[in-house]
Amino acid sequence: MVASEALPLIKTGGLADVVGALPAALATHGVSARLLCPAYRGVEAKVDARRDQARPLGDPLGVGEAALVPFSAGTLHGWLLDCPALFDRDGGPYLSPAGHDWDDNAVRFALLSRVAAQMATIEAMTGWRVDVVHAHDWQAGLVGAYLAAFGGVRPPLVFTIHNLQFLGRFAAAILPSLALPWWMNSMHGLEFYGEVAFLKGGVFFADAVTTVSPTYAQEIQTPLGGVGLQGLLAARADDLHGIVNGIDDAAWNPTGDPLIAAPYSAEDRTGKTACKRALQKELGLEVGDRPLLGSVGRMTGQKGIDLVLQSLPRLLHAGAQLAILGSGEAPLELAARAAAQGNPGQVAFVQGYHEALSHRVIAGSDALLVPSRFEPCGLTQQYAQRYGTIPVVRHTGGLADTVRDADADPEQGTGFSFAAPDAGALSEALDRTLACLHDAPRKHALVRRIMGLDRGWSNAAQPYVALYRALTAA
Ligand code: ADP
Repeated sequence: MVASEALPLIKTGGLADVVGALPAALATHGVSARLLCPAYRGVEAKVDARRDQARPLGDPLGVGEAALVPFSAGTLHGWLLDCPALFDRDGGPYLSPAGHDWDDNAVRFALLSRVAAQMATIEAMTGWRVDVVHAHDWQAGLVGAYLAAFGGVRPPLVFTIHNLQFLGRFAAAILPSLALPWWMNSMHGLEFYGEVAFLKGGVFFADAVTTVSPTYAQEIQTPLGGVGLQGLLAARADDLHGIVNGIDDAAWNPTGDPLIAAPYSAEDRTGKTACKRALQKELGLEVGDRPLLGSVGRMTGQKGIDLVLQSLPRLLHAGAQLAILGSGEAPLELAARAAAQGNPGQVAFVQGYHEALSHRVIAGSDALLVPSRFEPCGLTQQYAQRYGTIPVVRHTGGLADTVRDADADPEQGTGFSFAAPDAGALSEALDRTLACLHDAPRKHALVRRIMGLDRGWSNAAQPYVALYRALTAA
C-alpha cells in the first residue's frame, strides 16, 4: 500500500481511515499488506518505529537524504519514508500552516511514488516480496509512471481513486527534476491540458483502477463527474471497479465506544438518549427531546453545508436543533458561526477537527446530514447508521450506494435521500426525516435496521482480495 495518509499515523480525510483499516481486514483473508507513508513531523513518535533498522536510500531526487524506517502501529505495519528536507516541517501533509499547498508537493509525492516503485521491483530493499502494489490517490499516482520508466518485470499495480477532485496538477517542466522521461508529457502518459497530472498517471499506468463506490465509478466516466478525465476513465471501464469502503467497526462501535457518554446497542438504546443529552449540554443546546440533526465534515463546496444553512429557517420552524462540527472554507465557517450566534440554544457550531467530538455528534444526533454535491464514498453516513443515527443524504456516489430512502422503500430503507443539489430538495427530505422521528414505531424499526447493517471491513475487503488474486493469477 502506498499512501500519503493512514490512521493512526496521520489523517486529513477518509483516505486515512481506509488505508489504516484495510490491511488488517486483508490479513483475515490471508493477504499480508504493508504500508509506505511519508514520515511527516511527529508521525514517528506515534508508532513503534525501528530507527535502528533504517535503510538509507541516499538522495534519490537531489532534494535531501532519505531512508526507509520500518514501523508497526497496532495491526498496521510498513515503512516510513523519512526525508527530513521534504517531510519534517510544521503544517499539514499537503498544506503549509498558512493553508497553501506546499511549493514542493510535486517532488514530495514523486519521491513517495519513486521509492514505492523501487521497493516493488527490488526485493532486497526490504526483504519483502511485493506481489501487488496498491497505490492511493494522486500523491501515489506516479508509482505506475516510475514502474514504466524503470522497465523490466514488475508486479501488477492497483490504483484507487478516493477523490477525483484532487488531480495533483503541476507544470510539465518539472518532469526532469522528478527523474521521469520527457515522453511522459504526452497523452499516453501524464499530460493533462498542457500540464501533468499525477492522478492521470495512476489511472493510465495501473493494471486495475478502483474507486470507492460503484455509483462514483459510473459518475466519473461522465463529463459532469469526470473533471476532464472521463474519456480515459471510460476507456478503462473494463478495468475500473467500484468498491464501497468499509468502516472501522472497532473504532466505531456504540456498544464499546469510550469516546461517547454512554454505550448502547440496537436492543437497548437508553445510552443513545444519554448521548444526546450529553451532546446538547456540551454544545450549549437546550437539553430536551427536540430532534437533533448533526453534521460532521470538511466545510467545502463538495459537502453541501451551505444547503444545510439555507434550510435552517425551515428546520428551526419545525422545532429541530442543529449541531455542526467541521472546518474548511472561511465563508462557510463564517456562515455556520453566524447561524449559531443567531440561534443560541438551537444551533451549535464547533470549528476544528476533533476526532472524539465527531463520535459524540454522530452518537448524540437523531439524524446526520450529508447533502454532498458529489461524494466518492462517504464514511460518516455509514458511521451514523452503525450508531442508529438516520442519514439524510443526497443521492450521489457512495451515498447512493449505502443509503436507500425509507419512504421509497419502507421495508428496506436505510435513511432518507434527495436528488437535486439544492436547499429545496434537502428541506423536503428533512421534512420526511422529521416526520419519521416523530413516528416512534417507524423510527424504532428504521434505527434497528440501520444498526444491524454489516459495514465492517472484513466484508468490504473481499472485492480487493478477489482483484489482487485475479491480477496475480493473470
Ligand atoms: P472526505 O474524505 O471527503 O473528507 P469521508 O466521509 O470519506 O469524507 O471521511 C471524512 C472522515 O473525516 C470521517 O472519518 C469524518 O468523521 C472525519 N472528519 C471530517 N471532518 C471532521 C472534523 N471536523 N472533526 C472530526 N472528524 C472529521
